[in-house]
Amino acid sequence: MQNLDQVSCLKPILVQGAMDVEIETLVAALADVQMKTFGSWTFWEGQINGYPIVISRTEIGLANAAASTTLGIEHYRPGFIINQGTAGGHDPELFRGDIVVGESSFNMGSYKTEFKAKGQGIHPASWQNFDMTMYLRENGEVVKHNHFKADPALVELAMSMAHTYENGKVVTGVIGTGDEWNREVDRINWFHDNFNTAIEEMETSAAAMVAQAYHIPFVSIRVLSNTDQHAQEFEPQTAIDCQYFVLNVLRKLISQQ
Ligand code: SAH
Repeated sequence: MQNLDQVSCLKPILVQGAMDVEIETLVAALADVQMKTFGSWTFWEGQINGYPIVISRTEIGLANAAASTTLGIEHYRPGFIINQGTAGGHDPELFRGDIVVGESSFNMGSYKTEFKAKGQGIHPASWQNFDMTMYLRENGEVVKHNHFKADPALVELAMSMAHTYENGKVVTGVIGTGDEWNREVDRINWFHDNFNTAIEEMETSAAAMVAQAYHIPFVSIRVLSNTDQHAQEFEPQTAIDCQYFVLNVLRKLISQQ
């Protein structure tokens, strides 16, 4: 256990989850917990093994994820950001309970359409995902991103703990983020075939964008809570199992600081 002076000069680890079921297990693992709310977004400050940790309930969707990540960074100046929680399966090789460590993420819900005159109909299959949807100003210049890469060292660290997870496989993969919940298997396959998505969810790429703007190492660790590839419906226990895995990753990360 470090004394408080040491704790206060360490950069906290910010750990995010959208819904109560995705954060409660993490909050319960903290010592000396204090809860703070800014606007609609709540943060729990505490420690694990004497290291400062902040758990953030981002709420659901891209806008909430961006807002809460910005607040979390401005208030706590974290050294690392770990986004985690549930997701829906795209890759047919993956089953409910499997975990995807996101090597990269992108905004899956951003489209442009070809011009069609009145009466020529609606053609979702030909809608194109914007190649570059995420605009960030970096060093004064606008940089266009079609995806955000996770920090390779955090991906490696998470993968090194795969053996501790007993509820499924742990793999790396691409995360598609959208304010969407897709259940049409042809559409799910279209995303998987065109963008190599392993899973879909609603927050990662927005949090990753803000982390990139502040140059903070970021990774998203997501469990399949449901997958229409195998008729597996949403199972909240997966969110809890994912948090136990994230706690193992956190303890390893803390031990390296
Ligand atoms: N089942 C919940 C609703 C969850 S909303 C309820 O009825 O209250 C979606 C949340 O779960 C988002 O935070 C998103 O990141 C995650 N999620 C899990 N599976 C998803 C899927 N198949 N598509 C999109 N988001 C999913």
